[in-house]
Amino acid sequence: MNMRTSTRTHIRSGVLTALCLLPGMLLISSGVSANQLVGVRMHEGPDHTRVVLDTTDSVKYEFFVLESPYRIVIDLKGTRPADTFSPGLVAAGRDRVRDLRGAVREGDYRLVLDLGAKVEPKAFTLAPVAPYGHRLVFDLYSEIKTKEPVALATQPEGERDVIIAIDAGHGGEDPGAVGVGNLLEKNIVLAIAKNIAERLNETEGYRVKMIRTGDYYVSLRGRINIARKARADLFVSIHADAFRTPAVTGASVYTISERGASSEAARWLAESENRSDLIGGVGDVSLDDKDDMLAHVLLDLSMDASRSTSIAAGESILYRMGKVVKIRKRQVEQAGFVVLKSPDVPSVLVETGYLSNPIEAERLGTASHQDKVARAIYRGIRDHMESTPPAGTLLARQSKGSRTHTIERGDTLTAIAERYSTTSDRIRRANSLTGDTIRIGQKIVIPAS
Ligand SMILES: [Zn+2]
Repeated sequence: MNMRTSTRTHIRSGVLTALCLLPGMLLISSGVSANQLVGVRMHEGPDHTRVVLDTTDSVKYEFFVLESPYRIVIDLKGTRPADTFSPGLVAAGRDRVRDLRGAVREGDYRLVLDLGAKVEPKAFTLAPVAPYGHRLVFDLYSEIKTKEPVALATQPEGERDVIIAIDAGHGGEDPGAVGVGNLLEKNIVLAIAKNIAERLNETEGYRVKMIRTGDYYVSLRGRINIARKARADLFVSIHADAFRTPAVTGASVYTISERGASSEAARWLAESENRSDLIGGVGDVSLDDKDDMLAHVLLDLSMDASRSTSIAAGESILYRMGKVVKIRKRQVEQAGFVVLKSPDVPSVLVETGYLSNPIEAERLGTASHQDKVARAIYRGIRDHMESTPPAGTLLARQSKGSRTHTIERGDTLTAIAERYSTTSDRIRRANSLTGDTIRIGQKIVIPAS
C-alpha cells in the first residue's frame, strides 16, 4: 500500500499536488476491472525453483533477465497488487531467489526477483484448479552442471541392494485430491512416502530412490525416468483418492492395464491422475501427442514381463493393506495411469483412501494412520521382494534356501505349504498365483522361511 502511494506520487509529482491526486488514486485502487496480484508462492526442487504468482484473473506479462547481479524483471500488465500482498517474506532463506521487490509502474505492476545465481527461466500461465485460481508460473532452472556420475555400479554383483523407487504423487502446483478440511493429497502422500522410505533404508538389502523429496512437481514421465535411471527394481506410487460422492471409501492397488481402465471408477481415476501433467504445468507434455502414440506401441512390447511382476507386487501390498485398512476390492485393479507405464520397471500405484470421505480424510491426516499405512506398504514390498528377489541382489543370495516343487497328482497348496512349513499365501505370492488352481507338472517356488 505504501509502495503504491509513493510510486504514483513520484510519477506525477511535478504536475499535481497531493490533494488533486487523491480522487484519482481512489478510482484506480477501487477499479473493478483491474487484475489483482494476490500472492506469491515458491516451491523448491532439486534442479529448479518454481515461483507462482496468484492473480484474480488471467494475466498478460512480459519479463526479461538482467545480469550483475542476476535478476528477473516481470511486468504484469494492467495488474495491481492486492492490499494484502507482500512479496518480500517468501524468499527468506532461499538460494535461487534471494528477494522479491515490487513497484507500480503506470497501470502495470513490476516484480523483481533477485537471484543467487544465473538461472534458465521458463514462464507459463495455469488455469484455475481447486484450491488455486489463475496463476503465472516461473520455473527457474539452475544451470546444468556436469553429468551426474552413476553411483549404482559400485556394489558388487550378488550383494547389491534392491532399489525401490517411492513416488509421492502430485506436488507443488498440483495438489492432487483436495479433501474434507482442505487436506491436500500431495502433503499426505509425501508423509507416507517418507515413512516407507525410512523403513526400507533401515532394512538390510534395500535402498530407496525418492521420486520427490519436497513440495515440488515432477512430470509423470519424469517420475518414470527417475526410477529407470536409478535402475529401480520396483516403483511404488502413493496417492489418496477423491470421488464425486463422499460415501466411497477404501484403499486400492493398481497396476497398468492392458488396455485402459477395467472399471468406471478406475477410468475416472486414470483420467484425473493423468491430467496431472496439465494441471501441474509441464509446458511440453501433452497427453495425446504423436510421440505418445509411438511410445505406447514400443512400451507394449516390453511391458508384458514387468506387468506380471507388477501384479505380484501389487498383490503383496494389497494383502498387507487389507490387514490394517478397509480395501475396496480384494484384487489388484488395473488402470491406464501414465506413471505406471514404465517399460522395464515393475510399477504399482497405491490409493491409500478417500479424502472425499470425512472419516477417511480425518484419519489420513493423522501421523498414526499414515504410519500404519506406510508400515503395511513396507511389509508388502518386503513380502514381494523377498519371495522373488531380483538376481544379483543380497536378498537373492540370502534366499538361496528357496526350493522348487513340481506339482503331482493330489497336491493342494495347503498340503504343499504344510509340507514345507510355510503358508499357502506365501507360496501364492512367490508364484504370482491369484487363486488355488495348480496343474500337474507345474513348477512352483517354495519361498525360504
Ligand atoms: Zn493422486
